[in-house]
Amino acid sequence: MKIKISDQILQRVEKPSRYIGNEWNSIHKDLKGIQIRFAFCFPDVYEVGMSHLGMKILYHLLNERDDTYCERVFAPWVDMEQSMRANKIPLFALESHDPISQFDFVGFTLQYEMSYTNIINMLDLAGIPIYSKDRTKDHPFVCAGGPCAYNPEPLADIVDFFMMGEGEDIINEVMDEYGLWKVDNVSREDFLNRIVNIEGIYIPRFYKVDYNEDGTVGGIMPVKKEYPRKIRKRIVKELDKTFFPDRFIVPFTDIVHDRIMLELFRGCTRGCRFCQAGFVYRPVRERSAGKLLELARKLEENTGYEEISLTSLSTSDYTDLGHLTEELIKEMEPRKVNLSLPSLRIDSFSLDLMEKAQRVRKSGLTFAPEAGTQRLRNVINKGVTEEDLINSVTTAFYGGWSGVKLYFMLGLPTETYEDIEGIAELGSKVVAAYMGIPREKRGKGLNVTISTSSFVPKPFTPFQWEAQDSIETLREKQRYLKDRIKSRHIIYNWHDAELSFLEAVFARGDRKVGNVLVKAWEKGCKFDSWGEHFKFKEWMEAFDECGVDPHFYANRRRSYDEVFPWDHIDVGVGKRFLIRENERAYGGELTSNCRADCSGCGAAAFGGGICVEQR
Ligand code: SF4
Repeated sequence: MKIKISDQILQRVEKPSRYIGNEWNSIHKDLKGIQIRFAFCFPDVYEVGMSHLGMKILYHLLNERDDTYCERVFAPWVDMEQSMRANKIPLFALESHDPISQFDFVGFTLQYEMSYTNIINMLDLAGIPIYSKDRTKDHPFVCAGGPCAYNPEPLADIVDFFMMGEGEDIINEVMDEYGLWKVDNVSREDFLNRIVNIEGIYIPRFYKVDYNEDGTVGGIMPVKKEYPRKIRKRIVKELDKTFFPDRFIVPFTDIVHDRIMLELFRGCTRGCRFCQAGFVYRPVRERSAGKLLELARKLEENTGYEEISLTSLSTSDYTDLGHLTEELIKEMEPRKVNLSLPSLRIDSFSLDLMEKAQRVRKSGLTFAPEAGTQRLRNVINKGVTEEDLINSVTTAFYGGWSGVKLYFMLGLPTETYEDIEGIAELGSKVVAAYMGIPREKRGKGLNVTISTSSFVPKPFTPFQWEAQDSIETLREKQRYLKDRIKSRHIIYNWHDAELSFLEAVFARGDRKVGNVLVKAWEKGCKFDSWGEHFKFKEWMEAFDECGVDPHFYANRRRSYDEVFPWDHIDVGVGKRFLIRENERAYGGELTSNCRADCSGCGAAAFGGGICVEQR
């Protein structure tokens, strides 16, 4: 039953193009011969979800299958949801406008803990029971993947199964199994038993959690011996041989990242101790420049986009960057296509590269020193110096740039107020670097933005044992920094400490926090990452009513022998390595870039990538 959204509704809501679909390169299949319908859900609005590379890859990958039809679903904004509920319109997929309750799978990508209430809201809007235990054969399987799935426990009672790691291979294996299961027409439980031993599949209901008297986790064990004790993440070993779409959907409306995203490599070898992505995506595997050029040509031809973004966790570490950008510029400049290099490290900023890349259009520069002093940058293993920063911004100012964004974090382990003063001082030195350049040799209108996020301890990082600063302390530090930024050329932005507190709860929460999510949703919490919709009071009421102490999860330091709610997940990087890195942090010791020298994190066990090439 196709859903028809009346023009009346569309004319009343913000950005109606969020709900109409039919964009260039969107896929429309005849349902005849389709055995599997997969609703790929992004738990945020269209503009955010449409910018997500993982969704683009898996959407086109699944639609390569003749037996499967993958369609997109985004969280309807509050105005549209109101109209849908008032008119009893269930959540529908963008391509077919069919209700997703009729699909075989409803899959969520977990990019941010504070999007979890949107997941619950989307299930409710679709008419699918919120709790896994309440679903019957008439309901789709609810599955999830993405970085936040590395601690799946807060969603354990809501999601039927998780896919750990990279989705390209595992999702096809699950679809193959499902096709066979559907023919056999047996129980839901039977399907879950069929996929339980696919590497990377985690089915929470097949695991029992024991708790110690102090509320910490005692152990997470499979309920049957034939189920895997550890769930090992999946990776794709050779990116050149792995599916990457040669076309992206071109939206009618502006989206957050409205350009071609060319994924250079996965993983990172820098080892910044707060960064989860830097460890869970190891080992590093690169796509060859030849493959990337081939993809860039096709993507440009098939989309008409005027910008190509070279994406990775640390683009300046790409082995063949010079050659790749040279060739891309040669090909794309005549087509008036610009290159953007989002994550260039301070210590490898190259004016020559930036000037070439942005010959068509100049965009602002972003650097992430993360900490205000060398002492603290060593603690977090950032490995860049003040000199690197000043050299890079000075080079950029001589190159005509006058807009610089500087990213820092507040609340890092061992942080002192001297470190916070260091942030303000770095800002002043950047302004001084600009003023030191003769007026005729620099760009006009200097603007420096200092932005501080709050440190959130994440699973599978050397800082997974750390306590987060209290909300009051974070606010005090924000005020302290604000008072020390004097220059009129500097704008200071900071993240909401209450939101970071909740993120910290769900980043390291166990199954007990799952009920709080549902309770908070019942109190109207959703779109929590949007300031105008964030309801902290309701959240704290939900914790209270569920008898769960959020500080136990956010603000408590763990001992090295505590069992973590995610200890049954294997990402390759070992706990002993992370403990060693935690100790080195407290010693202010740097660990070098493992492209040069392997530090034995354990990711080599996955085979493939630089770990092996180094041997
Ligand atoms: S195994 Fe060694 S080379 Fe590979 S990611 Fe870990 S530290 Fe780096």
